Amino acid sequence: MLSLCLTPAVSAQEHASTEQLRFVTTNAEFTLLHEMGHLLIHELKLPILGREEDAADQLGFMGLFLIYDRQQTPDFPMRLLDVADYWRLEWQRDKAPAEEIQAWDSHALDEQRFYNMACLAYGSDPKNLEWIIEMTGLPEERAFYCQDEYEQIQYATLWFRDHFKRTEQQPIQHRIKVIYDTPPHHLDGGSELLEKVKADGELEAVAKRASDFFALPRDLTLRVKSCGAPDSWYNTNSGELTLCYERIAHFRKLARQLPRLNSSALN
Ligand SMILES: [Zn+2]
Repeated sequence: MLSLCLTPAVSAQEHASTEQLRFVTTNAEFTLLHEMGHLLIHELKLPILGREEDAADQLGFMGLFLIYDRQQTPDFPMRLLDVADYWRLEWQRDKAPAEEIQAWDSHALDEQRFYNMACLAYGSDPKNLEWIIEMTGLPEERAFYCQDEYEQIQYATLWFRDHFKRTEQQPIQHRIKVIYDTPPHHLDGGSELLEKVKADGELEAVAKRASDFFALPRDLTLRVKSCGAPDSWYNTNSGELTLCYERIAHFRKLARQLPRLNSSALN
């Protein structure tokens, strides 16, 4: 399981609670899986309907079910809520005008991504996760169809997995290589963060899983680096997936702003 990151080396007032760490870890994983969605859409030429960014969110969401064995991970529903709540925080935080997602953007608005994730989280197990409706404020009109939405996406993901699976006749010719650049000096606890991400080995595990499972058409790269902004992307020309250190730091900052994650903080 990806515990990507994060017991940060931080000053005393910034000690993180278990819940905050779960929030950061899960959202780092979701970011990676969203970008892996872009990677697979382009490299395998997955047929998609609708916007690619929505499809990448859906693939990322379903990817969480692959990473976590739900039966053995009691906090899995909270992780799904963490992903939804990240988008709520993005939607509601004060932002510079240039940071705002506009209606014409290829991404859904942060507010819509919040409701989409909340709907899929609830829809994944409506019998047991009714509390997610209350926690997120998901309106009944949407909640009513969330199980259908989840099942559609699950069906598409399973279809795509079976259809694009590498056959026994196809040897593994190409792999996703993981590269870590040096974290930026200004990132609090950056070196320790890098060591933990490396020691955890989850990035390599996700890269290996994709390389083994699918017949990738070329060698690809997963690079963790400093980007100057809390970003992540997949470059379809170079075949490089980038995960920025600043994005992980951004999750740490937002985790401290979510009241439900701060009840058991050490300070
Ligand atoms: Zn994207």
